[in-house]
Amino acid sequence: MRTIKDLDIAGKSVFIRCDFNVPKDEFGNITDDRRIRKALPTIRYCIDNGCKVVLASHFERPTPGEFTPEHSLEAVAKRLDTLLKIKKNLYFDDSKEGAVITKRAMDIFETMEGGDVLLLENLRFDAGETENSDAFAKQLSHFGEIYINDAFGACHRKHASIYAITQFYTKESKAAGFLLAKEVNFFSKMLNNPVRPFVAIVGGSKVSGKLEALDQLIDSVDKLIIGGGMAFTFFKQMGYEIGGSLVEEELLEEAQKVMDKAKAKGVKLYLPVDLVVANEFSDNAIVKYLPSQEIPPKWMGLDVGPASTRLFREVLNDAQTIIWNGPMGVYEMDKFSKGSTMMSHYIAETHATSIVGGGDTADVVARADDIDEMTFVSTGGGASLKLLEGKKLPGIEALEAE
Ligand code: AMP
Repeated sequence: MRTIKDLDIAGKSVFIRCDFNVPKDEFGNITDDRRIRKALPTIRYCIDNGCKVVLASHFERPTPGEFTPEHSLEAVAKRLDTLLKIKKNLYFDDSKEGAVITKRAMDIFETMEGGDVLLLENLRFDAGETENSDAFAKQLSHFGEIYINDAFGACHRKHASIYAITQFYTKESKAAGFLLAKEVNFFSKMLNNPVRPFVAIVGGSKVSGKLEALDQLIDSVDKLIIGGGMAFTFFKQMGYEIGGSLVEEELLEEAQKVMDKAKAKGVKLYLPVDLVVANEFSDNAIVKYLPSQEIPPKWMGLDVGPASTRLFREVLNDAQTIIWNGPMGVYEMDKFSKGSTMMSHYIAETHATSIVGGGDTADVVARADDIDEMTFVSTGGGASLKLLEGKKLPGIEALEAE
């Protein structure tokens, strides 16, 4: 993969597509600035090379054309200002127009000098971003002689700042930033050449979102743990009573195929042996700890139980490579978070190379205070899943095109 190091950027203007879609609390405070901090090496490299640096990112889903303060990147600009000590000036387009290509942004760009940084407003204030508009992409390209993509978390989307924009740059003027290159290299190295035993843990709400990933993973892993809501489609197919638990009836056959393929390939498949079941989907629910075969009618399984947690710990014991995508239960509610928290602790405890992907899973690891113990926590949920499915990301293909 061509990275920013392979380009001649000295003294030029550089447009960097970042992923600053950071979590905020109800008061608008940034609660986790990892995505901003991880973008710093590329930005610093540009500053050290005397570049005019223009940063752009999306943030959640505003209505295009309408300025809504909660969707503004202003808080990100302030955090960048604190973190990026070596810049000369940090400018932010504060025109509050609900637009990206504003007179204010263009005026700032004209007066910028090497070492200055400009953060544009939320790209999704312009409808052209999600429409992958050529016209919007062309306007964005005026902000940089060089185009750098450092937004791994957005690379699975064909959006203007990720996809259409690359047509306005030659091979010598576009490349991946350090963060993007690191994330992609990590995943491909691990999937193509894992140190064994290689264990995948897949959870989350649905089979449908992760079916292709499951199928691909079975080709490369030695053991597969399935937890979370998706386990119930498997249980139903196995003939268990699953009560009111989450299930995808239309995927029963697919679940069978996953089990058959695992068996044929000699992959050891583990499902929860017990569950935390509840009479309603609520933190105030009455809960019982029961074997997976004994879910009472109308009750629902919302977390893996203590016996499953111990079993999974045994399974991880000899692992050399672990990949985890999707929580083991409804971790957002305290009563159903233990399975996910313990999984995080057990992975942290091993000496394996551990890769955590997916926004929810990264959130679990952060809440469990295990982030520093993991080898790699990916910033992109959807994008990391696509890589697990063995697919090329549109943003990366576009970057590598002539
Ligand atoms: P995903 O986006 O597919 O990774 O799913 C993450 C979501 O799955 C989280 O919000 C969890 O609350 C949810 N989840 C995990 N286990 C269950 C379960 N047993 N029943 C319902 N939802 C679940």
